[in-house]
Amino acid sequence: MERTYIMIKPDGVQRGLIHKVIERFEQRGFYLKAMKMQMVTKEHAEKHYADLSSKPFFAGLVTYMCSGPVVCMVWEGKDVVKTGRKIIGATNPLASEPGSLRGDFCIEVGRNVIHGSDAVESAQHEIGLWFPEGVCEYEHALQKWIYE
Ligand code: UDP
Ligand code: MG
Repeated sequence: MERTYIMIKPDGVQRGLIHKVIERFEQRGFYLKAMKMQMVTKEHAEKHYADLSSKPFFAGLVTYMCSGPVVCMVWEGKDVVKTGRKIIGATNPLASEPGSLRGDFCIEVGRNVIHGSDAVESAQHEIGLWFPEGVCEYEHALQKWIYE
């Protein structure tokens, strides 16, 4: 089963949107495999967004990610990486469809509430970076009611 790394950014935490994010993934039928709240160090934020280090918004992005606690999660399910991106919406919230998290809850690209891995390989990398301790392996009681 595929896994993705989902993170509620500092604005999402401060604005009380943690439950909204969990609700969308949980009600769809995805399984929560790991979750924790933490402050992010500058070094860790820089590592997470290493691909964007040459972008003009990089310094501001790192400051934003370190401005308060984030909630880190791993979600599992069929095609969860791509479907998770749809649940989240486009990078620029003004281009996000209503019904997506960004389309419902934010306006600015630099305050876009949530992160989600963009590919299976980046998801594996990000899960390793944020959960070196591993995730929670358990039996999913609803498996046969969600999957045929
Ligand atoms: N970002 C920004 N300005 C931009 C593009 C991106 O501040 O012009 C921020 C935004 O918070 C975004 C993050 O950098 O979520 C990572 O960018 P990416 O292109 O990976 O978008 P995402 O995968 O988050 O949709
Ligand atoms: Mg990205």
